[in-house]
Amino acid sequence: MARVNQSIPPVEFGFMLCRLPDGRLTRGPIGVGTATNVQFPDQCGPGQKVVGSLHSHPKEGGGSILPSRQDMAEALRLKMEVLCIVNNETNQCYRVKGVQAAQSRPITRLVHLLRK
Ligand SMILES: [Zn+2]
Repeated sequence: MARVNQSIPPVEFGFMLCRLPDGRLTRGPIGVGTATNVQFPDQCGPGQKVVGSLHSHPKEGGGSILPSRQDMAEALRLKMEVLCIVNNETNQCYRVKGVQAAQSRPITRLVHLLRK
């Protein structure tokens, strides 16, 4: 019998979402940080295009499903299309528009994005 739960690590993890030349999505190396911070390589591999990034907001660090101001600044700096957040309850991807989280718009659950 499979047993699953929705727990995520108590520290943030994250990675870049990258598009391969054939259109499939892949990810960059996974970074693991603290309860409130994570760093990971912000480049995609040769021939790959930056789509966005995903990182966690564990409940130990507040657990918001919304991007922080710094998250949005990084997303804009790296010209991301989407910014995905995972917390202990759910996950959400935001289209990166404007300079504040309030201007971003939830578009899809990660599972749908990864199926694209
Ligand atoms: Zn964040």
